[in-house]
Amino acid sequence: MSGEEQKYIQEAFDTHWVAPLGPNVDAFEKALEQYEGQGRHVAALSSGTAAVHLGLVLLGVERGDEVICQSWTFAASTNPIVYLGAVPVLVDSESDTWNMSPELLEVAICERMRMTGRRPKAIVAVHMYGMPAKMDEICAIGAKYGIPVLEDAAEAMGSCLDGRNCGTFGAFGVLSFNGNKMITTSGGGALICPTEEMKKKALFYATQAREPFPYYQHERIGYNYRMSNVCAGIGLGQMTVVDEHVAHHRKTAAFYAERFGPVEGIDVHLNPSGRFDSNYWLSTIVIDGKKTGTDSETVRRHLESCNIESRPLWKPMHLQPVYKDAPAYSAGVSEKLYDKGLCLPSGPCVDAEDAERVVKEIMKCVKK
Ligand SMILES: *Cc1c(COP(=O)(O)O)cnc(C)c1O
Repeated sequence: MSGEEQKYIQEAFDTHWVAPLGPNVDAFEKALEQYEGQGRHVAALSSGTAAVHLGLVLLGVERGDEVICQSWTFAASTNPIVYLGAVPVLVDSESDTWNMSPELLEVAICERMRMTGRRPKAIVAVHMYGMPAKMDEICAIGAKYGIPVLEDAAEAMGSCLDGRNCGTFGAFGVLSFNGNKMITTSGGGALICPTEEMKKKALFYATQAREPFPYYQHERIGYNYRMSNVCAGIGLGQMTVVDEHVAHHRKTAAFYAERFGPVEGIDVHLNPSGRFDSNYWLSTIVIDGKKTGTDSETVRRHLESCNIESRPLWKPMHLQPVYKDAPAYSAGVSEKLYDKGLCLPSGPCVDAEDAERVVKEIMKCVKK
């Protein structure tokens, strides 16, 4: 917390704007629009999951449609596809960015069109752990086949590709302000929209699709997805520290990279080239068992015994029991990452001393 949050919350209470609308919501949206740039319009919502869901609604996803989604992601990218009665088609990652492989994406599109006679309705690309996906290539493939891209930047606030903020490449972009994300509103999210008109449409669906009548008139199915004015107050306070947070995460990743640099068999996941500028939301490593004589699970358990939390890299959706029937295009990349990788402590509370301790404990597991 920056310390500014309380001021905005107090203001909300003092002015009786304790509702899912109000001056903090408007100001938070303005601040996000300025931060993201590209002339985008931002709708503040109750969660990142709600933003994924509304983005798909606005792209016209309906029952029976197929939606291509990066398999290696958090379940909140894929679940809303199922909320809509659509079918997720899971596409594996590439080994440099760890995000959706443009080659596999095109293979999947062509095969789905051949098999179903229809175009997939949308593509959901994700910037995992803040590392930018190759949005230029993914959007170009989408455009080639007439399929819009929903860009899940929930983990990537502050990340850039070619100097442009993640979340502003796709037809829509998603941000999350959950407690564990780069900034938080306790719970919350945002949909980055291409036009003011689209933002209005998002807000229409986010407030129960109420038609403009003096009485309640409903012609479509809506949702209750607007952000609370109290939560938006926290968000306004957080906007004063977002740059600091991003800088901290980058510094932490650089520290791990420096310490593990000379260690054979422990690779810190870093920007593949100068085009990529990850926020390093989570610092992540891949452990080569042959070179280190250990493995990620042994390391994780040792860290746990030292009261240090780490976590395996996310388990891809095509390995999840709930998605076992979803069509999947895998090259084995995300499976290997899940098997060999770990997320390390990375947040604003992890200081240099903490990070040093994490490295020291991991090195105790490595055979000399
Ligand atoms: C956190 C997250 C979401 C969902 O955001 P919530 O605000 O928690 O609903 C969506 N996608 C990804 C990749 C995430 O990490």
